[in-house]
Amino acid sequence: MLSRGTRAVISLAALQHNLSIVRRVAPASSVLAVVKADAYGHGLVPVARALAVGSDALGVATFEEGMSLKLAGIERPVLLMEGVLSTAQLQQAAQQGFQIVVHQPWQLSMLLEAQLASPLTVWLKVDTGMHRLGIAANGCALFWQQLQSSANVKAVVLMSHLACADEPEHPLNQQQGELFSRLRQSVGATAASFANSAATLNRPDFHYQWVRPGLMLYGATPFAPSSGAVQSMQPVMHLQSRIISRTRVPAGDSVGYGATWRADRDTDVAVVAIGYGDGYPRHLSADAEVLIDGQRCAVLGRVSMDMITVDVTALPDAGPNTQVTLWGPGLPVEEVAVWANTINYELLCQVTGRVERIYV
Ligand code: PLP
Repeated sequence: MLSRGTRAVISLAALQHNLSIVRRVAPASSVLAVVKADAYGHGLVPVARALAVGSDALGVATFEEGMSLKLAGIERPVLLMEGVLSTAQLQQAAQQGFQIVVHQPWQLSMLLEAQLASPLTVWLKVDTGMHRLGIAANGCALFWQQLQSSANVKAVVLMSHLACADEPEHPLNQQQGELFSRLRQSVGATAASFANSAATLNRPDFHYQWVRPGLMLYGATPFAPSSGAVQSMQPVMHLQSRIISRTRVPAGDSVGYGATWRADRDTDVAVVAIGYGDGYPRHLSADAEVLIDGQRCAVLGRVSMDMITVDVTALPDAGPNTQVTLWGPGLPVEEVAVWANTINYELLCQVTGRVERIYV
């Protein structure tokens, strides 16, 4: 029987391995494992459950993501990193024991005025130069003091986010690092957090009390175009599908929408059951490849919603039901990201709900 077989096999062993690398490179820090955006496409609850074992806290973006973890019975502390909450959600956050990020004056006012069931741990996010979220550096001392003296606040962690950690030579890293260090000293913070995956791997001086890795847990690297394997990480997601048909296309004929690819020789073309409706990127360059029986095969023509076409002329045994790797072991997602002119983060996150996640 022919099955579509389009699935993302998620290796929980690889996840644990990558977490052990975080522990090894940042031995003195606590680990906030970032599982927002459905654990970067790997599946929020199963991944969080697996990471809850070896991490110290879990980081999500939204209140709803945090609630999914609570409803699943996951006990690890949860940080709501986006920090955008209604008053009712703030009250629920306190009831649930969530930790929250404050990065705007309105959040501070809401927090100071709220009637909460119990005090919260607050991560005060300061803008050290990324100019996305964060209170201005010159407001840091006042915010810090107000949080410290509020009955609604149990503890305060100072945090900031790096704009260019994936470019180690970028001068903004040093500038942000120096400002963060000064602010930390000036407020006397005993808990601070600055490092994402790139800085966890590359900047021990940025580790402080809490590192916040996301991408590296999934075995992917922020240092494109190298692959996670360079840092001994193991890919967690193996995106697979199957061949559903094989045909011979005579020299001179074209394949697919727009007839953008034309055979310069007789070509055996396999149709693989995955397309942009599954999250396989449509904007692949002409160099794109998949892996079949350990061999690289070129993607031909346009990616359709449910299918791609690949050249299997060199693989006489590749036919209906043969397994195909889109990325994973042997074909790093970083390589696919280059072909699609995007980043590994986006490819992992955009695998759609139609693709079954299988946990092994
Ligand atoms: N910390 C914050 C505030 C983030 O927004 C993110 C991700 O975007 C991370 C940590 C994790 O970053 P990375 O996946 O690069 O490790």
